[in-house]
Amino acid sequence: MNKPAGAPDWFDAVVVGAGFSGLYMLYRLRRLGLSVKVFDSAGDVGGTWYWNRYPGARCDIPTTDYAYSFDPELEKEWTWSEKYATQPEILDYLRFVADRYGLRADIELSTSVTSAHWDEQERRWSIVTDRGTRLRCRYYIMASGCLSMPKSLDIKGTDRFAGNVYFTSRWPHEGVDFTGQRVAVIGTGSSGIQAIPLIARQASQLTVFQRTPNFSVPAHNGPAPADRLTRLAQDREEYRDAARWSPGGVPVEPTGILGVTASETVARERFEDAWRAGQLFSILGVFADQGVNPASNKIVADMIREKIRSIVHDPWTADALCPKDHYFGTKRPCLDTGYFETYNLPHVRLVDLHRQPITSITEDGIDTADESFGFDAIVYATGFDAMTGAVEAVDVTGRDGLSLTEKWAAGPSTYLGLMTAGFPNFFMITGPGSPSVLSNMAVSIEQHVDWVADCLKDMSAEGFETIEPTPLAESGWDQHVRDCGAITLHPTANSWYMGANVPGKPRVFLPYIGGVAVYRQVCDDVVAQDYLGFRRTGPGGERCRDGVIRRMQPDVSLVLQVMAEMGLPPMETLSAGEARAMMALAAETRPPSPEVGEVTDGLMPGPAGDLPYRLYRPPSAGPHPVVVYFHGGGWVLGDLDSDDPLGRDLCVRSDAVIVSVNYRHAPEARFPAAAEDAFAALRWTAAHAAELGGIPGQIAVAGWSAGGNIAAVACQLARDADGPRVSGQLLICPVTDSDMTRPSYAENGDGYVLTTPLMHWFWNYYADQPDRGDPRAAPLRGNLDGLPPACVVTADFDPLRDEGLAYADALEASGAQVRRVRARGHTHTSVTMVGVVISGAPVRAEIAEALRNFFPSAP
Ligand SMILES: Cc1cc2nc3c(=O)[nH]c(=O)nc-3n(C[C@H](O)[C@H](O)[C@H](O)COP(=O)(O)OP(=O)(O)OC[C@H]3O[C@@H](n4cnc5c(N)ncnc54)[C@H](O)[C@@H]3O)c2cc1C
Repeated sequence: MNKPAGAPDWFDAVVVGAGFSGLYMLYRLRRLGLSVKVFDSAGDVGGTWYWNRYPGARCDIPTTDYAYSFDPELEKEWTWSEKYATQPEILDYLRFVADRYGLRADIELSTSVTSAHWDEQERRWSIVTDRGTRLRCRYYIMASGCLSMPKSLDIKGTDRFAGNVYFTSRWPHEGVDFTGQRVAVIGTGSSGIQAIPLIARQASQLTVFQRTPNFSVPAHNGPAPADRLTRLAQDREEYRDAARWSPGGVPVEPTGILGVTASETVARERFEDAWRAGQLFSILGVFADQGVNPASNKIVADMIREKIRSIVHDPWTADALCPKDHYFGTKRPCLDTGYFETYNLPHVRLVDLHRQPITSITEDGIDTADESFGFDAIVYATGFDAMTGAVEAVDVTGRDGLSLTEKWAAGPSTYLGLMTAGFPNFFMITGPGSPSVLSNMAVSIEQHVDWVADCLKDMSAEGFETIEPTPLAESGWDQHVRDCGAITLHPTANSWYMGANVPGKPRVFLPYIGGVAVYRQVCDDVVAQDYLGFRRTGPGGERCRDGVIRRMQPDVSLVLQVMAEMGLPPMETLSAGEARAMMALAAETRPPSPEVGEVTDGLMPGPAGDLPYRLYRPPSAGPHPVVVYFHGGGWVLGDLDSDDPLGRDLCVRSDAVIVSVNYRHAPEARFPAAAEDAFAALRWTAAHAAELGGIPGQIAVAGWSAGGNIAAVACQLARDADGPRVSGQLLICPVTDSDMTRPSYAENGDGYVLTTPLMHWFWNYYADQPDRGDPRAAPLRGNLDGLPPACVVTADFDPLRDEGLAYADALEASGAQVRRVRARGHTHTSVTMVGVVISGAPVRAEIAEALRNFFPSAP
C-alpha cells in the first residue's frame, strides 16, 4: 500500500454525501482513527433535507423513529416537536449533529465528486471533483442517497416556458410566494401530494397534472405519539433494538390475520384502525398477506378508494384520483394532510394525463391534446432516478477499466447492497439490493454504516488492505433479492422501485424486500462466517471463503421458521397413528385450494380390496389425458386429502384429468402392497379412461415422494407386463433407492422437514432390510430399458435430491427422455405446498408443462 505520510491529497476514506449516511459514516470512520474527506454538492449538510424544501415537506416515518440511535446522549439533547417533523426541523437536527460531533471540519460542501478510478497497482482510488480537486484514498464510500438524483424531465418544450419554474427537489431557499398566481403542479408522488394542499392555499388557480394516481392516507399529524415516547422513556435501548430487529425499521406488532380469510367485520375494523393511526406501516400491515395476495390486497385498496370517493365531492375527480393500475403498496404509498380535500376547493382542478396527455410546455403554459392552459408558475414534482441515479452519475471505474454503468447496464448487481465485484474497497450506503427505501432509512443507514466501519476495523486488525465480493456470492445475493421480490406483488407495478419511472432504465426490483431484521441477520451471518463471499487481500496474502449466504426461497424459510416455532415433536418419535393425526391437523389450517371443473370420489378394485380415488376434472371441455397420481407420505402417511391441493393444482395447470389414488399403507400393509396397488390402479384407470372422461391411450403416472417411488415402479411393472402403455412419468422428489449414503442425506438430513432419521422411520415401517434392494422398492436398481419419458423434480434442500438425480441419470443412460426440473431453494415438501409457498408456483408451472408434453396432442 502506497500511503505517502502526510500527503495532503491522501485520505484513508473519501465519502460522497453529507446527509444522514455521510455524517454518521464520517463519525464512525473518525473513531477508527482514519483520515476522511467528505464531499457534498449541497451548500450545507443534510442531504435530502437540504434539497427538498418545498412547502409541506415532512418525513413520513414518525420522527421518534426517523432519527439516529447510535448515541443515547444525542437522543437526550434533541426533542422533536411533531409526529412527522417538517423539513426545516429535520435539517436543523442534521446540522446539530454535524456541529455536536465537530464533523464539518472534514466536509467540503458545494463540491461534486465526478470520478473515482481504482488503481490496481497501488490498490487505491483516485478521486476527482468538479472543482478540480484530485486525491487518493484507500476506501471510496458512496453515501450519495437513494433519492438524491432528480429525474430528468421527459416532457416536450420544458425550456420554452417564460414563467417561473420550480422543482420540489431543488426548492429556492428563500421560499416561494404563489399568492395570486396561476400554478401548475406536475406529478402526484409523495412530494406533490405534500406540496399541493399548501400551494393551493396561496395560488389563485391550481391545476394538478396527474400521470398516475397514488394511494395516500391521512398523516393525522400532531404531537409525537405518546405511546412511542413512553416506550422510549421507559427503555430506550429496548425500543431501538426492537426497531433494528423489525421488518421495516419501526417497532410494530406484526399481524397473522390474512385478508383472504378475515371476516368483513374484522377487515373493516383493522382497516379503520390503520386509517386512524396515520402511519405507513399500519396501513401496509392491515393483513399479513396483502403484499403477496391480490385478493387480500384488493380489500385494502377498495377501502382506500372508498375513502377517496367519500372525501372528494366531484365524482369524476374522485374517480380519477383513485389508483387502479397497481396494487396497494407496490408503489410507495403517501401520507398526506388534506390532499384529497384540496380538490373540493373551487380554484383547484385535476387534469388526468391518461385522458388528456400533455403535448407540450409552451411559453405561457401547458398544452394538452384538447386544451391550452396559461400559468404563471410550473412546479415539477417528478421524482427521482432512485437508488442507482446518484451512484451511476459518478464515473466509477473498477478493476481492468470496468465502469460501473457498463457493469450495471442490465440493472444493478451487488452483494448485500453494500459492494459490487470488480470494485475493491468501494462501499455503498443503502445501495440497491438492501432494504433502504422500503424501510425506515435512519435504521437502515445506521446498520450499513456500522457494518462498513466494523468491516474496516476487522480488516485492519487482520492486516487486509482490500475487500471485494466474489462473483458467486454476488450473483447468489442478486438471485435472493429477485426471489424475495418475485413472491410479492411489487414486480407488477410500474414503480420507481422497479426503475419504471425513468425511460430506458432496466426493469428490476431494486430494493431488498426481505425486511430489515432478516437483512441484518444476513449481514451478521456473513461476518460470522469469516466474511463469507468476500475476498480480502493484504501483504500477508489473501483470504476468501466463497459461497452464497441465502440459497433458500424466502417463503420456504418462513415456513420452516413457523414450524420450528410450533415446537412439534419430530415425526420419527411418534407412532404411525400419531403422525397421521398430526398431518390431518396441519391440513385443517391450509388456505383454500384451487378451483377445478369437477371433483368426484370413487372406488376402484385393487389386489386386496377396493382403492379409494379422487378424480379432478379440468374446467375445459373433455375428453382429457389422464394422470394417475400417488400421494406422498413415506408409504405410511397421506391420503386423498393430504395431496388435494396439489391434485387440483396439477389438474388446472396441466388441463388433464387427475386420478389421485389412495393405496395401502405400512405398517398395516408392508412392501410390496403400495407398489402392487399402484400398478393395479394404473391398469384399471387405463382400462376405464373413456368412462372417466379421459382419452384412451393417453395416460401418465405421477407421484410425489413415496408416491413418486410407486409411480416409477408402476412404469417398470407396466413395461414388464406389456401394458398399459404409459405416456410419461412425473416423479416429484421421488424415493428411488434405499441407499442413504448419498451426500444429500448428509447435507440436508436435518432441519428441512423430511429428515434422514425420518427416512429411516419410513423404510422401517415399509420394508424389511432384504426387500429394500428389490426394484419394486428401489426402482433405481431395476431394469430401466424401455421406460416412458420422465420428468424428474428434485429440490435443493431435500435428502432425496441425489437419488432423484441418480434416477434421472440412469433413465437417460437407458435411453429414456428425461426432463429435469430443479426446485431451486426448495425443500422436499415446499413445492407441493399450494397456496402457502408462493415460490413453488413457477416450479409447478414447469411440471405441468412437462405433463402436457407427455401427451401427443399437446400444443
Ligand atoms: C422528500 C423526501 C422525504 C423523505 N422522507 C423519508 C422518511 O420519512 N423516512 C425515510 O426513512 N426516508 C425518507 N426519505 C428518504 C431519504 O432520502 C432518507 O431517509 C435519507 O435522508 C437518506 O440519507 P442519505 O444520507 O443516505 O442520502 P441523502 O440525504 O440523499 O444525501 C446524499 C447526499 O449526497 C450528495 N451527493 C450525491 N452525489 C454526489 C456527488 N457525486 N458529489 C457530491 N455529493 C453528492 C447529495 O447532494 C446529497 O446531499 C425521504 C426522501 C425524500 C426525497
